[in-house]
Amino acid sequence: MIRCLILGSGPAGYTAAIYAGRANLSPVLYQGILPGGQLTTTTDIENFPGYPLGISGFEMMEDLKKQAERFGTDIRTGIATSVDFSEKPYKVTIDGKSVIEAETVIIATGATAKYLGLPDEQRYAGSGVSACATCDGFFYRNKTVAVVGGGDTACEDALYLSNICQKVYLVVRKNYLRASEIMQQRVKKSEKIDILFEHNVTGLFGDGVVEGAMLLKRKGETDEEEITLSIDGLFLAIGHHPNSEIFKKYLETDETGYFKTLANGVSTKVEGVFIAGDVGDPHYRQAITAAASGCKAAIEAEDYLYSL
Ligand code: FAD
Repeated sequence: MIRCLILGSGPAGYTAAIYAGRANLSPVLYQGILPGGQLTTTTDIENFPGYPLGISGFEMMEDLKKQAERFGTDIRTGIATSVDFSEKPYKVTIDGKSVIEAETVIIATGATAKYLGLPDEQRYAGSGVSACATCDGFFYRNKTVAVVGGGDTACEDALYLSNICQKVYLVVRKNYLRASEIMQQRVKKSEKIDILFEHNVTGLFGDGVVEGAMLLKRKGETDEEEITLSIDGLFLAIGHHPNSEIFKKYLETDETGYFKTLANGVSTKVEGVFIAGDVGDPHYRQAITAAASGCKAAIEAEDYLYSL
């Protein structure tokens, strides 16, 4: 019987493990398909407190893993493939085979950014392509960037980047923005933002780093036109996919799949099951906020176990 089971090895999962370990809960953590989480897919992290010179995402996650191990976390490879939260102890199936039982479960399975699916996105990942304006915008100071998307997030990202960059193109597939009226007005008012309606990004070019993008204007129409845009960075803002699928039978999510939590931000309607990190956070999606909610989830798990 596991006292505290943690699913996910991003900043939320490892922070939960550090707190649960130090509280003597003998946590067991399953790493999932991406050990170390999203930060292992990026280069430098400059905004996590405590690293004045920045740190590579991979190194930071290795440090967090070692810290979790130091306090006795049993770190295992494996993916949770189904759960049964209908009665206690809760049952979690790993890799479709073994079923484990746990008194508390902390779900820290993260959210995956959506990409356009172009081979060039992979080619220039970390070299001009990003899915996080808050994280990587600073690297494009006084440069020219494009943001892809037409919703609130895309508008927010374009506005955020317009405070840092020299020029921002907002590339919108449709001939209108889906964003709220207020966001649309702010974007349209900005002198630094140019909205390119009815444009699709079809590829990127550059010698090692992004130097520009190929776009198709009015795709499929008789006046379809190929355009080349000189940019230093491409930011995807077309949404995220929260990894919440297997839990949906028991836990409430919003229409996009992010978990809904109780007032403390981590508890759910199922006693002893907690949410941490990006999988319950459609707004902030940062390592520091994920780590903070991992801490809260572990403290709540501890309180719950001691109340039994
Ligand atoms: P994640 O890091 O997404 O980790 C989720 C974990 O859950 C993974 O280990 C995965 O394997 C595991 N998992 C998923 N499904 C299952 C399952 N079924 N069973 C078991 N395990 C599972 N933030 C910053 O603060 N600063 C930055 O500079 C920064 N740069 C970024 C750059 C990029 C390119 C990206 C994509 C993100 C960046 N972020 C940055 C955001 C940051 O990475 C996330 O906010 C943070 O990683 C979220 O942590 P998490 O623990 O919630 O989830």
